[in-house]
Formats: sequence, structure tokens, C-alpha cells
Amino acid sequence: MIQKAEQLLQQYYGFSSFRPGQEQAIRQVLESENTLAVMPTGGGKSLCYQIPGLTLPGTAIIISPLISLMKDQVDALNSYGIAATYINSSLSIQEQRQRISDMENGSYQFVYVAPERFDSSHFMSVVKSIDLSLIAFDEAHCISQWGHDFRPSYRSIVPTLKQIPDLPVLMALTATATQEVIKDIQALIDVPDHSVVNTGFARENLSFRVIKGRDKRDFVQEYLKSRPDEAGIIYTATRKDADQLQQFLSKKGYSTGKYHAGMTEDQRKQVQMDFVQDELTTIIATNAFGMGIDKSNVRFVIHYSMPMNIESYYQEAGRAGRDGEPGDCILLFSSQDIHLQRFLIDQSPAEDKKKEEYAKLQSMVNYCHTHTCLQQYILEYFNNPFPTEPCGKCSNCTYEGIEQDMTREAQMVLSCVKRMDERFGAGLTAKVLRGSSDQKVKQFQFQKLPTYGIMSNYTEKELTRFIHFLTAEGYLAPGQGRYPTLRLTQEALDVLKGEKPVIMLVESTTTEQEEKYNHEY
Ligand code: ADP
Ligand code: ZN
Repeated sequence: MIQKAEQLLQQYYGFSSFRPGQEQAIRQVLESENTLAVMPTGGGKSLCYQIPGLTLPGTAIIISPLISLMKDQVDALNSYGIAATYINSSLSIQEQRQRISDMENGSYQFVYVAPERFDSSHFMSVVKSIDLSLIAFDEAHCISQWGHDFRPSYRSIVPTLKQIPDLPVLMALTATATQEVIKDIQALIDVPDHSVVNTGFARENLSFRVIKGRDKRDFVQEYLKSRPDEAGIIYTATRKDADQLQQFLSKKGYSTGKYHAGMTEDQRKQVQMDFVQDELTTIIATNAFGMGIDKSNVRFVIHYSMPMNIESYYQEAGRAGRDGEPGDCILLFSSQDIHLQRFLIDQSPAEDKKKEEYAKLQSMVNYCHTHTCLQQYILEYFNNPFPTEPCGKCSNCTYEGIEQDMTREAQMVLSCVKRMDERFGAGLTAKVLRGSSDQKVKQFQFQKLPTYGIMSNYTEKELTRFIHFLTAEGYLAPGQGRYPTLRLTQEALDVLKGEKPVIMLVESTTTEQEEKYNHEY
């Protein structure tokens, strides 16, 4: 049957060979093995269910929470001459009825539906009565409560589906799944370990960069100047930031589009269409933008502020370079970003999840402070199944600093944290090390500590940055409580005992660093 699959690949899509993982996933589905495919964005997940859907008799049902993507997928299939449709709330009731009745008559090879559709008993009775080739769960991470985009309605259809008497082979596809999410999906739709096809998450065409200590607006302006005709997205944390940045850029003569939930639906649709059709090159948007936008030639994604977690970051940044051509993923970091994200977590009603959200936020902050390869950092965060090499092109891999032994300095910081009983954050620790006469230092009598003022040759800012570095490299970790406190890790104890050196890349001189920034693009 796999020969048939190869032939279809050529015949319908005009491709000569499968991408990594595709063949195994397709082979398994053809052999009725429930399958989970974890592949990066742009890796070619659609083919993994489309080819079996074309090969096996009956109708394939694709469940997707992204209504906006269904039409594109269906249009693409129709353009190859394949009978496909979607049924969702964007259609009139009559149209929905018509399509369900056509589906009952076996008119379609592919039917795309949203999870909510299975709440309808009429739809379920039709599903039970027809021949099915397969059922695929697209964006399957939404099934899992460990996923960053959990949709309860998605999870709850699984028991409903299991009522189908001749349940066909099941398939789940996602680009973002931690080990927990993978296990969860496996358990839910009965996928044995050997049927998980995981090609990893690496997007080799993407270059990651973290920029600190620069005026963000200036950076964006200069960047756009250097990339005049390229499509890109600039994500801001708030609508207000989006408005203000657009105003600033338009004063400077850049024409950009804007997209956020404060605009009317018509306005948003228009901007989205202009962007997809290359009428507009740059979009300034909140995270409301992007879900379900199928534009493969996005050349850069700039985050004007740090997002809440690595999952969101990788998903948003990953909208660059879906065509496999180079993409730039730039994060502009300032420490205020952390306060905003903390505030947002504090505001969220899900009390039981807050601890986890804070921990995820901390991993995001660590990404901004780490000196290791950014691509590797992300892949390790997601437990990439393959060993990874430094990418050679992220801002850390290309940073030309000089290695400096900071073991002694690290010992000073760590012992200060220890003497402060591991109950305070980076800010106050920096003040104590610097020897500040701040009110709070006195309040806790920290001026009496032997570590008080032992690093007075550094500025408070340098010290805070160094403490963040030590956190990002795993010597310090956030405490359990509600406030950002620091505690020592096992590695920290090794450093204190003199068993582990701490090496940091430092700038050779300030002017060289400025030069580097100026020539960066
Ligand atoms: P995903 O859903 O994993 O993000 P898609 O299924 O949208 O990825 O595929 C991304 C792009 O790669 C599409 O343009 C698709 O046509 C192309 N593609 C998929 N499989 C192959 C293949 N075997 N050879 C060449 N191009 C492919
Ligand atoms: Zn790198």
C-alpha cells in the first residue's frame, strides 16, 4: 500500500519523496495502527492523514479547533480535484444540513469539523452510519490539559467517539507537545509507544535572537529599514503597545497593518487578507493574530515583549519560515516584561495552575538570560528526542565575547543568597552585594551580613544581570512561593565547594559591542 501512497504523493501533490516521519506515519495508519505524529510546523503533517484518506475507502474526518484553517485546507484539496468539505458555524444552518446530508451519502473523502460538532446527536448518528477511513485530531495538543492551549470540548469528544461501532484508525497530529502532552494523547486515543512518530521540533531554517538593553522602537525601526520588502509580524504584549508602535512607525514613514481584539471583525479580516496576499508586509499584532493564518513566506517574527512561556513563544516565532527559507525570530527583552506577565498570571482565575504558570514563565525568562544556544534551549525544553548541537546562528552562538572565569563572583552571589535565607529575589540580593543603603536592606539588617558590599565594584544593574545569568544556567532557581525569590540548586552547592567553575562570555569592550549591534542586520 505504501507504493500506492508514493504514487498519490506524486500524482496529487507533485512531490517526489516523503519528508522525515511522513512515510512511517502513513504506513502505520494504512495498517490500522493508531498514530501520533509530532512534527515541526511546516513539516508536512497534513499529508500524513490526507494520503491515507485518499488510499483507504470511506470518509476521513479531520477534527480541528481552528475554524479559520479549514477552508484553506478544503480549498487546497478541492483544487487537486479531491472531494472535501468543512462543516462549521461559519456556514448557514441550511448549508450545514446540506453538507451533512451529502456526507451521509458518501460524497466526500474528507470532512473537516470542529470538536463541538460531536455534541450534535444528528451529526453523531450520521458518523455512526457511514464508512469511515480514519479520524484525525489536528492540533492534538489542545486535547491535553497539560497543553498550552487546552480545549475541554476537544478532550470530551473522545468518549463520544468511542461509541462509534466500527471505529476506524485514529490519528493525532501536533507541532508542540511536551513529553507530558505526548503521554496524555497516547493514553486518550490508545497509541502504543512504538506508534509515536516524533521527528523532533527543530526548525533548522530559523535563527533566534534575544536583544537586551536597546530602545525597542529604535531597534524595530532600524530592522524594518534593513528589510524593506519582507513579510514579518511584530508581536506586542498589549493592544496599547500595538497602537503606539504603529503610530510611531507610521510617523517614521513605514506602512504597517495592525491586528488585535479591540478592532472590529471586518477590520481584522481585511488586515489578515492584505497580509496573506502580500499587500501588507508588516503586521503589528497581539497574540490574537496568527492562529490559523496560512502564510508560508513570513521572513521575521519580532516579539516586542517577552511572552508568557516557551510554548507560546515557539508557536508564534515559528510562524516565520514555514516555506523552509530562512526566518528571523527576535525577542526584545526588558525586565518590565516579566512584571507584566506575572501580573497576567496573577489575574487569571485558575488558582490551581498558577504555580505551573510561574514556573513556565521562569523558563521563558531563563531563555532571555541564558548563554547557551537558543535553539538548543528550546529543543531541550520540549525534550527533543534527538541530541542537539548548537545551531551556530543564534545570537548566543554568534556572540563574540571572551570567556571569563566568574567562579569567585558566583560564589559571592550564591553565599549571599544563602545568608539571606533564600527568601528574596534578584533585586534585593544585588543591593546587598553592592552595599546599598536601601530602606529594605536596613529593615532586614542585611548590612550586617559578611556579604554586604563585597561586590561594590559592580553596578546594581550588572549584579542583577549576573544573578539572572546564574538563574538561567541553573545555579539559582525560583522559590515555591508567590513572590520571586531565589534558592540554591545542587549545582550551586558544587560551585560553593569549588567543584564546579562558572564561565561566562563577556563583552570585550563596550564600544565593540555597540559596533556589533550597529552592524547586526
Ligand atoms: P504542517 O501542517 O506540518 O505545518 P503542512 O502540511 O502545511 O505542514 O506542509 C507544509 C508545506 O510543506 C506545504 O506547503 C506542503 O505542501 C509541503 N510539503 C509537505 N510534504 C511535502 C513533501 N513530502 N515534499 C515536499 N513538500 C512537502
Ligand atoms: Zn545557537
